[in-house]
Amino acid sequence: MDDDVITSPKDEITLFGIPASPGVAHGQVFRFLHEEVEVLNYEVKKEDQPKEIVRFKEALSITSEQIKEVRDGVAKNLGEKEAGIFDAHLMVLEDKALIDDVEKEIRLTGDNVEQCLHRVSQRYYDYFNQLDDVYLRERASDLKDISRRLIRNLIGVTAAGTAFLEDPRVLVSEDLTPSDTASLDRSKILAIATETGGQTSHAVIMARASSVPAVVGVRSLTEGLNEGDTLLVDGFEGLVIIIPSETTLFRYGKVGIRRKKLKDLVEEDAQEPALTKDGQPFQLYANADTPEEVKAAIDNACQGVGLFRTEALFLLKNEMPSEDVQFSHYRELVEAANPLGVTIRTLDLGGDKVLNLGEKEKENNPFMGFRAIRYCLQNPETFLSQLRAILRASAFGKVKLMFPMISGVGELIRAKVLLDRARNELREKNIDFDESIEIGCMIETPSAVTICDLLAKEVDFFSVGTNDLVQYLLAVDRVNNQIAYLYEPHHPAVIRSLDHVSRVAKEAGKPITVCGEIAGDPHFLPVFLGLGLDHLSCAPPLLQELKFFGRRFTQGECKELVDEILSMARPVRIKERLKEFYDLRVADLLA
Ligand code: PEP
Ligand code: MG
Repeated sequence: MDDDVITSPKDEITLFGIPASPGVAHGQVFRFLHEEVEVLNYEVKKEDQPKEIVRFKEALSITSEQIKEVRDGVAKNLGEKEAGIFDAHLMVLEDKALIDDVEKEIRLTGDNVEQCLHRVSQRYYDYFNQLDDVYLRERASDLKDISRRLIRNLIGVTAAGTAFLEDPRVLVSEDLTPSDTASLDRSKILAIATETGGQTSHAVIMARASSVPAVVGVRSLTEGLNEGDTLLVDGFEGLVIIIPSETTLFRYGKVGIRRKKLKDLVEEDAQEPALTKDGQPFQLYANADTPEEVKAAIDNACQGVGLFRTEALFLLKNEMPSEDVQFSHYRELVEAANPLGVTIRTLDLGGDKVLNLGEKEKENNPFMGFRAIRYCLQNPETFLSQLRAILRASAFGKVKLMFPMISGVGELIRAKVLLDRARNELREKNIDFDESIEIGCMIETPSAVTICDLLAKEVDFFSVGTNDLVQYLLAVDRVNNQIAYLYEPHHPAVIRSLDHVSRVAKEAGKPITVCGEIAGDPHFLPVFLGLGLDHLSCAPPLLQELKFFGRRFTQGECKELVDEILSMARPVRIKERLKEFYDLRVADLLA
């Protein structure tokens, strides 16, 4: 820990968050507060309940008109892609389950519509917000945004904005919704910093589209911050500096120039092939959760989808989608990726991605519990229906199929037996699928690393899930903030495991991809290239920059670097060494 302490000049405070929209800006703080309206609670006579439902319907239609208006404005100013964000809001307004639940709440409790809507949407929000899945947590924010708007419309209150600001400011808020972002006058916003939110939250997507630097997930940001304080937001590194010193501002002037230069250089290289400096090819793929993300990823010049997580469809509706619903979802994604391929991962429910179906027992250690392939093997009908749906989609483009959280050969064999059964069922019905579909497994448990030679005999390819591998190898729960400092991808145990799997896979002639978050980290890239792990799958916005850096390293020097760090003991030193290696090769370019 001693190595990790950051010292700063006296009055300056540095807070760490998640870099969300690139750029650096500084200026005076503007605290953006959500004007929470008081949701009154009163009883409504039984004979007046239909009137409450009519009020609700009217509010739905007024809100829908308002959102369409915002949508058109965004489409005009930022483009259709960004405006698409509001389609998700319109879908919430048309969600039959939500509407039915509010009407039911009115009838059951006899309370007023504002209160019933508030309770129902809070229940939905709480459920989605506790999930590990970033996409679904962001849908929870959509829901909160919409229900605020609906309640305001029911009560007749309008929201606050930034129109009154005289000078541009750095906007600070606990949370920021897409409607908030749309309501802001962008000429008055220098940068955005929020306590909550993820890298792909809709508010952030819009900030990115408007080139407003943003950092999200900054804990304790709003505590002790005063209107008028100066704040520097570093959207590259994910830092927020309160009352930056002159030295910091000078340093940042230089950083800004370097970053702009890098952006221009990456753009210049956009059409260049993914080859190392000494001509070795490497492959870049995209991770995605929805067919829409696949469409966006393909525009980003990747070589296919390396990891398609299938949980979103199940979690969004909190039910098991039918085989046909799954089939059309997978077909849409396969067709979006054509002619490139898609690796579809079978269901990875469990851990903290749970369906709320009522019958589930609470687990003491959910990440080590009834998760992923374990759940599927104990629920063969659910599993078979997903397998058939994926197989059917394979008739429409190149599909590979992959099993998550494999910890032993037995699981893999049982999964393959069920896959054969799914194939036979389709053959009997003369339904087309790709007979030569490739089968792979995730390497994300320590046991899978240890026995990867045995697993290699059962599959066509491997995909290393470093997000889980780090948590299981180091026994550090990946969602527990208290021990987040122990979650160290630079730990020698991780590097050595990657080395082992890479060697075994090579010997067995099985291709291997890395698909955890570190696959998109340019500092880690030389490690992967040096280990011969040259198939990387990561979030689409990172792909171009990753290719740019890959083109600046030779495979020979990456191998030497790997030899060096394989004998190092401390994660923090390995991390420093990677940064040094990287800086040395790009410093001149950016000088
Ligand atoms: C991983 O564990 O690295 C991975 C890619 O899968 P997920 O994050 O969905 O568990
Ligand atoms: Mg995983």
